Amino acid sequence: MLQIKNICKKYVTGGLTQQALNDVTFNLRDSEFVAILGQSGSGKTTLLNIIGGLDRYDSGDIVINSVSTKKYSNRDWDSYRNHTIGFVFQSYNLIPHQSILANVELALTISGISKSERRKRAKEALEKMGLGSHLHKRPNQMSGGQMQRVAIARALVNDPDILLADEPTGALDSETSVQVMELLKEVAKDRLVVMVTHNPELAEEYASRIIKLHDGRILSDTNPYEVDETRLAPPEHKNMGKASMSISTALSLSFNNLKTKKGRTLLTSFAGSIGIIGIALILSLSNGINAYIDDIQKDTMSSYPIAIEAQSLDLSSLLAAGRQSGISDDADHELDGVYSNSSDMELAKSATTSIKENNLTEFKKYLDIQDSEIHQYVGENGIIYSYDVKFDTFAYDPEGELINTDGSEFTSGNTSAMTGGMPMGGFSLGSMTMGNLTSTSKFEELLPGTQGNLISAAVTDNYELLYGNWPKAYNEVVLVLDENNEISTSVLYELGILPSAEYKEVLEKISKGEEISFEGHKWNYEDISNQTFYILPESDYYMELENGVFDYTAEDRDSLKTLLKDSIELKVSGIIKPEEDASYTAISGNIGYTKALTDALIERTNNSPVVKAQEATPEINVTNGMSFSPKTDEVKIEETIKYLSGLNLSDKAAVATTILTSSPENNQNNSKEAQNTGADIPSQGQTGSAGAGISSEMNEEGLAAMLDAYLLEPDKETLLKLYDTYIQAGSYDDNMSSFGVVSLDAPSSISIYADSFEDKDGISASIEDYNKTAGKENQITYTDFVGLLMSSITTIINVISYVLIAFVAVSLIVSSIMIGIITFISVLERTKEIGVLRAIGASKRNITQVFNAETFIVGSISGLLGVGITCLLLLPINSVIHAVLDTTAVNAALPVTSGFVLIVLSMALTLFAGLIPAKKAAGKDPVIALRSE
Ligand code: ADP
Ligand code: MG
Repeated sequence: MLQIKNICKKYVTGGLTQQALNDVTFNLRDSEFVAILGQSGSGKTTLLNIIGGLDRYDSGDIVINSVSTKKYSNRDWDSYRNHTIGFVFQSYNLIPHQSILANVELALTISGISKSERRKRAKEALEKMGLGSHLHKRPNQMSGGQMQRVAIARALVNDPDILLADEPTGALDSETSVQVMELLKEVAKDRLVVMVTHNPELAEEYASRIIKLHDGRILSDTNPYEVDETRLAPPEHKNMGKASMSISTALSLSFNNLKTKKGRTLLTSFAGSIGIIGIALILSLSNGINAYIDDIQKDTMSSYPIAIEAQSLDLSSLLAAGRQSGISDDADHELDGVYSNSSDMELAKSATTSIKENNLTEFKKYLDIQDSEIHQYVGENGIIYSYDVKFDTFAYDPEGELINTDGSEFTSGNTSAMTGGMPMGGFSLGSMTMGNLTSTSKFEELLPGTQGNLISAAVTDNYELLYGNWPKAYNEVVLVLDENNEISTSVLYELGILPSAEYKEVLEKISKGEEISFEGHKWNYEDISNQTFYILPESDYYMELENGVFDYTAEDRDSLKTLLKDSIELKVSGIIKPEEDASYTAISGNIGYTKALTDALIERTNNSPVVKAQEATPEINVTNGMSFSPKTDEVKIEETIKYLSGLNLSDKAAVATTILTSSPENNQNNSKEAQNTGADIPSQGQTGSAGAGISSEMNEEGLAAMLDAYLLEPDKETLLKLYDTYIQAGSYDDNMSSFGVVSLDAPSSISIYADSFEDKDGISASIEDYNKTAGKENQITYTDFVGLLMSSITTIINVISYVLIAFVAVSLIVSSIMIGIITFISVLERTKEIGVLRAIGASKRNITQVFNAETFIVGSISGLLGVGITCLLLLPINSVIHAVLDTTAVNAALPVTSGFVLIVLSMALTLFAGLIPAKKAAGKDPVIALRSE
């Protein structure tokens, strides 16, 4: 039983107040067919909407089965509409994009009924209306009568107690009107039907009761229902429970809804995805470029570490001086006379002052502290300490001839002139410059790896192993070929792979300017790997004589062969060449050995007899038995006489020649060698020219006898000069260093590797900080080659990065706006649907849910679509990049996490953009929403 008590409702529009209902009171039976008649504007629809809970009354009360609705919450009204009321409208209000079956199902969906049950009941309801064969038609494919029957089926599918129909026949012809009226009459048998109409005949014929309205008041009632209020229980408030709809229902509702308009959804999603595609593409590009830049940085840094030499040439200050003193276009004086220009002298001055000694021992102490600031910037390749390990390497040529691989034996050869006999280490231009002006050695230590690896990944990644294995032991080396699998012929000769006799011949012909043709050679990898090298550290050359003095035997071929028997044998374990797109190609030697060999050589030197002997007698020079620092000239003379008497015949002759020419200064150029070797005095050539007149007339024996005689009555001056020339053999330290002793605390150079320019700058800054704390004499200078080369490139890279970031930001904003607009339009479009949903019991929250679910789905699809399309687009884009840049190093690729984030972002953006319209939609007055066409 429904009691309508003193209901008033007025609308205020502008200044005009319209009393739509004015104190309307009547009761409705549980089962009757009531027709409400009245002119247009008399308040019929308003009354019906209030009874149906779509609209709220201003005053009065509606009592439903003794329950007052005064305290009804929105949720109670929603539930009431959903469970108790069925609405039929004049304009059918079917949702056009859903099949009639889905339209009918909708009411059940909101009630939270299972899918199969929904389907069954919707079908039954439609079959009852005689529409069983039209289930999958769209509303616009049906006639008006049919559509109204669908609306009635929808109203009845929930089996409501009350059916409210607002001019259900208003848009129908008389014949179909009769059909609909019949239907309603049938329905009214077991429930209350309230029908608004302005057709009195139809009302008269079918309704069981007619209420006439005029200007919001009841004019007449043909069958009033009087209730004895006193016998009824007093009205009380009861909670109705909620019209429930789970999130999954909302999602599936939206999904189904979207499924029925696939094309539209796809287009919407695509439009939304354009922004995502933009972002994804730029991300991919910047990702590719960044990876490329990182790679380049890393590669550059692995080829060009910060190298600090024991002796360094401050190239940057030299270059600065060069620039300053370079031919200036603008003179800073009038052109009115003759001026001096000292730029060349400035340059010379800065060239000498630019050479700096670095105390690497102190610096290494700093580096060895693991907490040092510098360590956070050190890259994958770590810090590499190089040591000046002096050694010679020998090999037998195919004809069994023993040759020193430094090429020093081919004296007439201009190729070997630069390296032959030149002491290694110290300051050498070859190791200072980027390129390879002078090949310092054919043997080169391969960049050691970190964590105990013999070889750095920078080497193994950039060099291709053509044959065999990478060295695993100290006595294994690799042969390094160039990109074309070639080795220079001169190197092949000097390594003893080609016969040395032939080389001598060739060199001779070259020097004589004769015609020669060079034939090409080819070896199997295996054959060429059979070459064995014998390595002798400097200390091995010192052989102990019977008198306890150590003799330097480097020039003695016979003892050399004996020495080689005990030497370290090097095997070629593999053959490598640079990869085609290698970035690290810093190996300039032909034979690469590992740090293990360096360590082995250092150890062998430290344990050699000569070093042990020198260590045992630090006062005495073990190479000649003289003390390092004689106190007086007398001792010096004594020692000189002792020394000269002990010489062999030819050496004596040489000294005699020197004395006879009375110009020991002539031999100054040999002094270094004399110091090193002690007893060895070149007996031919160099001294020959000066003393030619005498020596040619005398044989060695005569000259030696002359020296012996001279020593009995020597001239002190001359002897002291001879002492300075031959005997004064430096110091203990000089000796140790000529034996090749290397202290692990005193590297000859330190290479610090960074992985990026930024880290490299960090390392430079750390070194500067170190210099601030270190004493003046311990300060470190070095040349920052990469800094010199790369400073402009770094700026370019930064600019590119910023531009890309700006692009991403812009496309993000554009994309959000786009998605927002699209969602907004989509919501606006469905205003009518919202009204319908509210009429059949959807709560505001349900509406928000449905729309949020929809935008969420659209957002997901646009995200997936965007990422998917991007991935597809990247294929042609990458081939274009590769073609344009002519490199495969730049690869635009969307990182998986970025892809994921973009999809989530798209969902979030769409959801956010749809939130406001969805809220707005939910807040719409259902009455107004329904009135909108
Ligand atoms: P009927 O259905 O009998 O034609 P209505 O119930 O629709 O009449 O309208 C009753 C009166 O209330 C009319 O004068 C109408 O103009 C007015 N009215 C209805 N709805 C609104 C509204 N939302 N705002 C202002 N006036 C309204
Ligand atoms: Mg009306």
